Amino acid sequence: MPEDRQFYLAQLKERLQYYKEIGIDGLSVKVSLEKALAAAAPVRQETLQPVPVSDTVVARRNSSLSELPLSQQPSGENLESIRADLGDCQRCKLCSGRTNIVFGSGTSQTKLVFVGEGPGADEDAQGLPFVGAAGQLLTKIIDAIQLTRDQVYICNVVKCRPPSNRIPEEDEIAACSPFLFRQIESIRPQIICCLGAVATQTVLETKTAVGKLRGRFHDFRGIQVMPTWHPAYLLRNPAAKRDVWDDVKKIRALLDEAG
Ligand code: URA
Repeated sequence: MPEDRQFYLAQLKERLQYYKEIGIDGLSVKVSLEKALAAAAPVRQETLQPVPVSDTVVARRNSSLSELPLSQQPSGENLESIRADLGDCQRCKLCSGRTNIVFGSGTSQTKLVFVGEGPGADEDAQGLPFVGAAGQLLTKIIDAIQLTRDQVYICNVVKCRPPSNRIPEEDEIAACSPFLFRQIESIRPQIICCLGAVATQTVLETKTAVGKLRGRFHDFRGIQVMPTWHPAYLLRNPAAKRDVWDDVKKIRALLDEAG
């Protein structure tokens, strides 16, 4: 067997092991060995670059934006100016218990944004989203759709840690979510993946349970929203990893479709 074939087989084995680790114990699609080997090939450097925004995407963005009421039109601001505006935020009571504001991480030049609930202890300590146990699982989920954390943007509905990791309260979400919406408008991704109930219900302005919404795309100002289970829920309910795998495969397919 030629050496590079052996190398790709080793890569394939590693990837299948990875899928197993995140709870995917079978693949429903028939893949030819050649295709599987190609998929397992190391990611080339150019695919790590931010995905260029095509004219078609810009046109689609503009057309959907023109349908927005003026009050919802993006202001042309960027993540840095939004972060600067957030400042040393005292807009809600969560500020009193925080160590760091957790604004977001990744790139603004992306088609895919992940939205979580709010920082936990590790995130509060480091000032970065999804760096604890749930975050490690999110990293694997991102990897499973052949992306890296640097190629997507990750943020939360609330930017400060709720005490004892309780669910953010309505007034806290009301104070902080405008910053989330501004982050989303400044990035204008093709897809938002909402992790768990708080993200899903905030972005889609609904009280409907994630279990009823996950698995299909919903519209948010012309952006495709895929609700799915929160990684912390997956840590407690590993059987639900299969649902998340189904959901993120749909995200991968839509990204591939757009090219
Ligand atoms: N859970 C979240 O919702 N967000 C984080 O950043 C970490 C854990």
